[in-house]
Amino acid sequence: MSASTISRSTFDQVMVPNYAPQVMVPVRGKGSRVWDQEGKEYLDFAGGIAVNALGHCHPALVKALKKQSEQLWHLSNVYTNEPALELAGELIKHTFAEKIFFCNSGAEANEAAFKLARKYAYDNFGPEKHEIIAFHQAFHGRTLFTVSVGGQKKYREGFEPVPAGITHTTYNDLTALEEVISDRTCAVVIEPIQGEGGVIPATKEFMQGVRQLCDQHNALLVCDEVQSGMGRTGQLFAYMGLGVTPDIVASAKSLGGGFPIGAMLTTSNVAQSFGFGTHGTTYGGNPLACSVALEVLKIINDPQLLANVSTKHDRFRHHLEAINQRHGVFKEIRGKGLLIGAELTDEYQGQGKAFLAAAADEGLMMLVAGPNVLRFAPSLIIPDKDIDEGMARLEKAVAKVVSGH
Ligand SMILES: *Cc1c(COP(=O)(O)O)cnc(C)c1O
Repeated sequence: MSASTISRSTFDQVMVPNYAPQVMVPVRGKGSRVWDQEGKEYLDFAGGIAVNALGHCHPALVKALKKQSEQLWHLSNVYTNEPALELAGELIKHTFAEKIFFCNSGAEANEAAFKLARKYAYDNFGPEKHEIIAFHQAFHGRTLFTVSVGGQKKYREGFEPVPAGITHTTYNDLTALEEVISDRTCAVVIEPIQGEGGVIPATKEFMQGVRQLCDQHNALLVCDEVQSGMGRTGQLFAYMGLGVTPDIVASAKSLGGGFPIGAMLTTSNVAQSFGFGTHGTTYGGNPLACSVALEVLKIINDPQLLANVSTKHDRFRHHLEAINQRHGVFKEIRGKGLLIGAELTDEYQGQGKAFLAAAADEGLMMLVAGPNVLRFAPSLIIPDKDIDEGMARLEKAVAKVVSGH
């Protein structure tokens, strides 16, 4: 099999059928534009699911990757390396964190977070204090522990028995949390904006209430910022805009700008429970990944870039509202920064995928969050003219779906 004979149908021949990718096969990207095998151009409002925070092939990231690729690729954690230590230092400098653990994905960052929360409670309070509270519709990854803490039953079904000691309650409902939290709770796990669950932001009052209840019961506050972090909301991490300080943060996705890396951020006190030999991963802190992430962090953690994220949010929202005025397809437009959801009206329930396919036809890459919400998670530096062009294509796609309805 050579590149010239590869097409979308090859996928069905050689891949496990757990994904159903769109029909085109992208081969090249630059900034917020992508080209497929036929040379057709796409505007990218998907950002690789909130990963390509600086678009495709950003020159500074290409340079960092090339430079490191000629120096040192991999060591394992039997040895440490300069890029990992430098990246950890920068994350500590700009967040609540005092200690960092590196891994390779969001699920792994959460897996580390949940294990650490359990271990910390075990070390300091005993084995009874092991219950994790999470939220309905939450998404934390696809390992067995993370689908168990996640609040979507469909991701657990058929994989039972799943780990025990996990309770789910209602997001943005402090009374509901009060009813289930106890001194047996070791951690409350929350996405500051539920991403996969439909782009639903937590209110400030709720987050602050969660922090208070955690303090009252000696439970750790674990923020899953895999999707909401690294500038996505216009703050370096979303917790910073909510007036709370977490005990553990999981980061991934935009952290590497497209190069796989995850990180768990925590305090010195909590970190003590991950003593020598308690947890690990071969690739964690890989020099290639850390060199790229270091560059990503330097570029994103800039007041002007972060301010622009909010301005670009307004531009997206303005376009979506205009499209809605003409076609009446959205019930609500919500989200923060460049994580935006548009919920379909009752008339279009379950049809998110139809909009996605129509958009691809018109030359637009975008996302859904569940069957009823269109989701946009583009590059944080997407040019305004690319937003305008992509929205013109979205409008054509919407018009097609509406006329065929
Ligand atoms: C994507 C995501 C994950 C899982 O990350 P992977 O890199 O796919 O393992 C976890 N939590 C949230 C909030 C996410 O959006």
